[in-house]
Amino acid sequence: MTATEGETTAAEAALRWACREILTSPVRARHWLRAQPRRAEQQVPLMQIVRAEAHVRVGQGDQARQAAAAVLRIPGIEAGALLAGSAVLADTACWNGDRDAVELCLDYQRAAEAFTDYDRAWCAQALHAVAVYQQHSCAEGRQLLRVAYRTARQHGSDRLVAACAAALFGMGARCGRRSDPEQSQWAPVPGGLLCPAGSPRLDYLTSRLRRHPGTHSCRPAPPTIPHPLPDIIDKAPS
Ligand SMILES: [Zn+2]
Repeated sequence: MTATEGETTAAEAALRWACREILTSPVRARHWLRAQPRRAEQQVPLMQIVRAEAHVRVGQGDQARQAAAAVLRIPGIEAGALLAGSAVLADTACWNGDRDAVELCLDYQRAAEAFTDYDRAWCAQALHAVAVYQQHSCAEGRQLLRVAYRTARQHGSDRLVAACAAALFGMGARCGRRSDPEQSQWAPVPGGLLCPAGSPRLDYLTSRLRRHPGTHSCRPAPPTIPHPLPDIIDKAPS
């Protein structure tokens, strides 16, 4: 084995270990973040993306955004890292409630489509609907999510269908009661490094939706819609 291959193997092992730590618990994610400055190999794009995801995991939204944005400024970044970094940046903006979340979701969707990475593009489409619901108009966001839901049913994974359906139900419920932001469980962004784009957690979109109240253009408040979840939701792993 050459030195280069050895270095590559070590970096890949470090990346896998970091992902496990972050997924396991916020406490372990925080420990991993504290250890970062001592790890020179983590200054590569993929490690920077994991760093951004770890910051979200421990509730450090501003640091997450800075880390994700830094990834996209790395010269000559390869397509996989570019798309993963775009996913994390758009997701972090939604998580934070940043005003440019809508535009960043569109940027992410366009980049994914340009590289024909449709699993990511469909996730970006659904996340864009959530950002529009929060930043622009609940009615527009719900319409966009209906479109994303139909796209997912035609082309996407069962998990994405289930995540879209759950978020559609959540949007209807939030319009009905004008609820304040709620505590939401963290879920990894599909298309980052912790979760494949084709396998979003059922609660991914609702976890982002619940963080902010929405911009309500609905009047009078509509009744809560019947739960639209298809049977597959009962079967989908969380
Ligand atoms: Zn509304």
